[in-house]
Amino acid sequence: MLGPVILAASRSDRMRRLISAAPVTKQVVDRFIPGETVADIVPVIQDLTGKGLELTMDVVGEDITTPEQATAARDAYLELTGRLADLGLGRKVEMSVKLSMFGQSLDGGHELALKNVRSVVEAAAAIGTTVTLDAEDHTTLDSMFAIHEELRTDFPQTGCVIQAYLFRTEADARRLAASGSRVRLVKGAYKEPAEVAYQQKHEIDKAYVRILRTLMDGTGYPMIGSHDPRLISIAQELARKAGRKPDEYEFQMLYGIRSEEHLRLAAEGHRMRVYTAYGTDWYGYFMRRLAEKPANLRFFARSMITK
Ligand code: FAD
Repeated sequence: MLGPVILAASRSDRMRRLISAAPVTKQVVDRFIPGETVADIVPVIQDLTGKGLELTMDVVGEDITTPEQATAARDAYLELTGRLADLGLGRKVEMSVKLSMFGQSLDGGHELALKNVRSVVEAAAAIGTTVTLDAEDHTTLDSMFAIHEELRTDFPQTGCVIQAYLFRTEADARRLAASGSRVRLVKGAYKEPAEVAYQQKHEIDKAYVRILRTLMDGTGYPMIGSHDPRLISIAQELARKAGRKPDEYEFQMLYGIRSEEHLRLAAEGHRMRVYTAYGTDWYGYFMRRLAEKPANLRFFARSMITK
């Protein structure tokens, strides 16, 4: 029951100001977002890649309000790409972007977001890596899929995310699986109405399995974005049945969540990619992590009281 309340708070400016200003917030935030600058994040990247993990990097931020902020977001990714090139880590580290951070919701936003993300995709390709377009709320997805298709003309490795909780996703998965795309399948992290999305966990989990089967049986590259132990073992079984080799799909989990499992899957010979977020505009990302697991909120509330 708490999840929807926290997700509603994630869109509130008042809550944003209140929570961002609380002195103890940072310690809790660090668990999920281990740095604010490229300099902070480089040791984290080196540590995780040194342990045999691959990464996808997210410069946190979304729902910007000016084209200048969108340009700044693009530049933050370009700075990161430059640093990855210096470190020689381009092949182990890809990038995840939210198009709302690149201006998607502004006037003429579709074109602006496409222009900004194209610069990042070009820079990524130049160092041997790629970009995945995150999925945000359902109203943004037609634009996201159109941008994804457009980028794939020149950069076929560009990935996108689909969300099992949305009714539309089974059809999206069939199209993407047939076109040979890289696709990350997640359950979905936004507050969506009953007209467009399953609301019950068991329905979402069942949809996840149906969609995953479509991706595994298709010609693309499935990326299993989940921490759910049941879904991870089903994914292994579906990959085996589809005759996929270990380099023909991958697991992805979020930094700070089930970290032992990241290492276990990598040690078993799976490709394991850790979604690692950094930056200063962490509020929306952080609140979604609280909403996913009420125990996180209790921990957060306790630390506010005891400090
Ligand atoms: P759940 O059933 O929620 O969780 C399974 C178990 O994992 C829980 O029992 C718990 O032990 C652990 N767990 C899960 N979440 C947390 C948490 N926050 N804190 C502590 N433990 C936790 N969503 C989008 O809408 N768009 C995206 O682009 C997107 N990208 C993602 C990328 C990656 C790599 C991953 C892993 C998730 C992404 N998500 C995205 C979030 C996703 O939609 C889910 O909200 C999130 O992954 C939780 O679902 P789950 O599959 O882990 O299953």
